[in-house]
Amino acid sequence: MHAFSYVRVDSVDDALSALREPGTKVLAGGTNLLDLMKGYVEQPVHIVDISRLPLDQVAEGSDGGIRIGALARNSDAANHPLVRQRYPLLTQAFLAGASPQLRNMATVGGNLMQRTRCHYFTDAAFDRCNKRQPGSGCAAREGFTRQHAIFGASEQCIATHPSDMAVALAALDAVIVVRGPRGERRIPIEDFYRLPGTTPQRDTNLAPDELILAIDLSPSSFAEHSHYLKVRDRASYAFALVSVAAALEQRDGAIRDARIALGGVAHRPWRVRDAERRLVGNRLDQASIAAAAQASVRGAQPIRDNAFKVPLAQRAVMLALQSAGGMA
Ligand code: SF4
Repeated sequence: MHAFSYVRVDSVDDALSALREPGTKVLAGGTNLLDLMKGYVEQPVHIVDISRLPLDQVAEGSDGGIRIGALARNSDAANHPLVRQRYPLLTQAFLAGASPQLRNMATVGGNLMQRTRCHYFTDAAFDRCNKRQPGSGCAAREGFTRQHAIFGASEQCIATHPSDMAVALAALDAVIVVRGPRGERRIPIEDFYRLPGTTPQRDTNLAPDELILAIDLSPSSFAEHSHYLKVRDRASYAFALVSVAAALEQRDGAIRDARIALGGVAHRPWRVRDAERRLVGNRLDQASIAAAAQASVRGAQPIRDNAFKVPLAQRAVMLALQSAGGMA
């Protein structure tokens, strides 16, 4: 590991001051950043340790929603009564991620900021990675692409976002609360993550001098009918090949609102709004589920090794909707 300076801060203002220095990275739970530093993938000049800031609470908002502090541990957020009761989809997604030991350390802010990546990114022995070294090329393009994106990829990068939590947050229309030198701003999760385009080195629209304070969730009408389904190569501690966050609001036998987000298929959590529209106003039955599942993979562009993800995603959407609707 290369040399770097380290400071632990006691206030958000001090954290923001530290972030003014170019080359500064934020350390919270350390489960992603330290791994990448040990592998010479991340080489920050300065580290600002925010782990002692009082940002670890889960609290009820005045509107009936909740606010999850950026430093809440994944395990604590997953098992908080407010999350369990009102957003069971999010609890399921948290518990599908990583391992119990990692969930006990990792923070929700760090989970949001996990690098979109592939094996060629995390192994610095491969020189060509536009995300690690802009302009160097993409080793994955001529490599093993089983895990890679089927939506929204670019010539420069075909990596997928690893977070389960973020997929559930996308389905729930979460808002990310951040603060920087220009004050506080609220970023809908839809605008938080980026597609790779020609700048795959940027995973999010968070500015380098901004700090995540919290995640806000609006009051949810999906608590009774939601399901997070993760398909992976082994039962634990593996990224999704495909995952689905499905949430339904049903009244008088008809679907009033539907949310479907996919994970493991794109550089960011992937909302499939056309599939959602296939459900709203209809009864949840095999026909509407099949139509939504078909719509969810429309426009997919698989590459050499990952064509299997298209039917896998379609079937995963069907199963997640059946489970959300109490049919499975
Ligand atoms: Fe790097 Fe993206 Fe290519 Fe993977 S897919 S090697 S992260 S540029």
